[in-house]
Formats: sequence, structure tokens, C-alpha cells
Amino acid sequence: MHPAPIAQRLTRPSPLRTHTFGEYRLTHLPDGLVQLNPTGWFPGLTAADAAGFADHLDAEGCLVAAIGGLLVRYRDRALLIDTGYGPRRLAADRTHPALGALGGGGLLDSLAEAGVAPGEIDTVAFTHLHDDHVGWAFLGSERGPLFSAASFVLSTAEWRGGGYGQIPAALHDRVRPAGDGQEVFPGVTLRESPGHTGGHAAYVLTGDGGDRLVVAGDVMHSPLQVAHPEWPVFFDSDADTAVRTRTAFLRDAATPGTVVYAGHFADVVFGRVRADGGGHLWDPLP
Ligand SMILES: [Zn+2]
Repeated sequence: MHPAPIAQRLTRPSPLRTHTFGEYRLTHLPDGLVQLNPTGWFPGLTAADAAGFADHLDAEGCLVAAIGGLLVRYRDRALLIDTGYGPRRLAADRTHPALGALGGGGLLDSLAEAGVAPGEIDTVAFTHLHDDHVGWAFLGSERGPLFSAASFVLSTAEWRGGGYGQIPAALHDRVRPAGDGQEVFPGVTLRESPGHTGGHAAYVLTGDGGDRLVVAGDVMHSPLQVAHPEWPVFFDSDADTAVRTRTAFLRDAATPGTVVYAGHFADVVFGRVRADGGGHLWDPLP
């Protein structure tokens, strides 16, 4: 298989992609996509600014954000970080001016393609509780959740800051709130990274030898933000905190031996952050 040229990968959502990391197998499970209206998503940017990154825009002038989850397999264990949007679709005129069309539905097929049944997932970890991250987790929770054997991890701050009301009551006895630095799965720790939501969490997987895979969640939504962490994001609940979090995240991610998984990054969801002058650039994995 020939790898697709980068120009194509910036304007489409990622297909199923696997990255092997020591004993861990990491798989991006596609669910769907959401279009981001660049001047709505990044308030303050103009159409002229957007013309400067036309290579990131689809035929309708939107950034393409992948939606999905990250499957982490380790020995006989399986962790799923975020669960997509679920089987529904909204046309652009039914979403929000900062968005275009929004839809999911592919995650279960992706999981099957990866060879894992929903009941084999022992841990579901959320970066935060927005719709495009919890979609499949709460489906049918009255009859018993799809991820029938899973406990549900989120940051203690997200749980206390509204999560208790957002997660169906039938699942509350499965919820495992975790604090900064706490291990939630073998080798995987939660890292508080507030700004997009008050209790947003990144996750850090440390393999043998100290190499790391860092899950960005919605610290960033587009590879453009690697060079521009200062751009405000319409849906960040606290813009100043989000900019500080992004900036610190990038500085840490530029440490040698670190791979980043940024699940909204079109078809460049796995990559490395490279220091460049005073800033950073995104180097997608092939
Ligand atoms: Zn999101």
C-alpha cells in the first residue's frame, strides 16, 4: 500500500490506523467527522487568514476534524479512550455557526475490524464529556451499556464539574474518577489539562525505556494549532487557561521519544511535535 500524499490526509478523516508501541497496540477507531468553520472555530481569524491555510480546507472551506476513539491493547487488556459521536448525523444548518456537518456511526465497525468486541473493553476513559467523545458509551445504558464489562474513567474535576449529571445514573457505579498523575490502566496515567472543559484530561502512556504516547484529547482540534496554540477556540470553556494548557502540552510533547495522538487531527492523528524556532510544527507519522 502506498501512503497517501499529505495534501489528501489534511482534508479527510483518518481511516483505521494502528501504531505499535512496545507491548501496546494503539488503534485509531474512526466513527465519523465534524467540519469546523475556520473563522467560527477560531474567533478572530479572517477569511484572508483562512486562505493562508487553504491546504487544510475541504471543498466547502471547512477544516475536517476526525471523530473516533483510541483503542489501547496491552496483553489481555483493552482500553478505549473516548467513544465517538454515535450513530447520528446533523447537516451543517442543524449544528452551530462554528461547525459544519457532524456525524458518527462507524465506531463499532472499526472495533470489529480491529478484532475486539465491545464486551472485551475493560476500561473506557474519557478526555471530557462532550457529545463527540461519549456517543457510544451511554447508548442503551438503561438496558445495560454497550461496553458491558467496562469501568468509566474521567478526571475527578470533570466528574464533579457536571459529569455526575451528564453520565446516566445507571452507570454511576462503574465510574472511576481519577486525579492528576493517577494510573488508570497499566502504564497509562491521567493528566489534568483544563481549558476546553474545566476537567479535561489528557492521558500519558509510558512504555518500556521511557518512550511516551500522549493523548491530546481536545487540547487541540487541528494540526494548525501546533504552530498557533495562542488562537482562541470558540468551544473552549476558559480561553486563557486553554492557551496555557496547549502551550505547556506542546513544550512537553516536543520531548524526544514522544508520540502524540490527537484524535481530531483529520488523517494525521498520530504524529510528533517538533521544535522549530520559537514554536512547534506537526510531523505526522506515515
Ligand atoms: Zn471533540
